[in-house]
Amino acid sequence: MPRKAEAPALAPSIERPSRAEAEDAVRTLIRWAGDNPMREGLAGTPDRVIRAYEEWFAGYEEDPEDLLKRTFEEVGGYDEIVLLRDIRFTSHCEHHMAPIFGRAHIGYLPRNRVVGLSKLARLVEVYAKRLQIQERMTAEIANTIERVLNPHGVAVVIEGTHTCMTTRGVHKSQATMVTSRMLGVFRDNPETRQEFLSAIDLRGARGVPATS
Ligand SMILES: [Zn+2]
Repeated sequence: MPRKAEAPALAPSIERPSRAEAEDAVRTLIRWAGDNPMREGLAGTPDRVIRAYEEWFAGYEEDPEDLLKRTFEEVGGYDEIVLLRDIRFTSHCEHHMAPIFGRAHIGYLPRNRVVGLSKLARLVEVYAKRLQIQERMTAEIANTIERVLNPHGVAVVIEGTHTCMTTRGVHKSQATMVTSRMLGVFRDNPETRQEFLSAIDLRGARGVPATS
């Protein structure tokens, strides 16, 4: 089954700046915005921004495959779709470093392994807490599940609101982007795909996404 190339999680050759250098960069951006980084209200901002970055981009510190490998069990004859829907996430677009708010829906048809549902939610989180584009995040989640669990099929649909689009540029505040990745039976069998799409109950139900 062909897989799209995924962006490397970490480039080991990139030297990480010191915390002081990162805070200086924030001061530079404050000055670029036109304010004084030394005034009282902004004095602690570089430190707070860097702490926020540690949370927002914590996904680089974790290996998503390890996460799924850690717990799996025999399925005991279970042969229906496993579905987790409405997994809320916050990510950041790699083009503007602006927040993306969204929800992910994941389904898979197990072959001989299942994973705890909380692990699927954590998988979304690991990929969300990196600089992303929604299309790649969708594919990464599906491909990782396929690689580690080897199910009969995987379906991932993500709905995202991109603040780089809603708060600037074209200012389309209601626009939601929908991306999907269907593998195995979800790609090959329209009934299985439809069962999944009906179950996740997309907001724009008419706009059922095409497979990718
Ligand atoms: Zn953007």
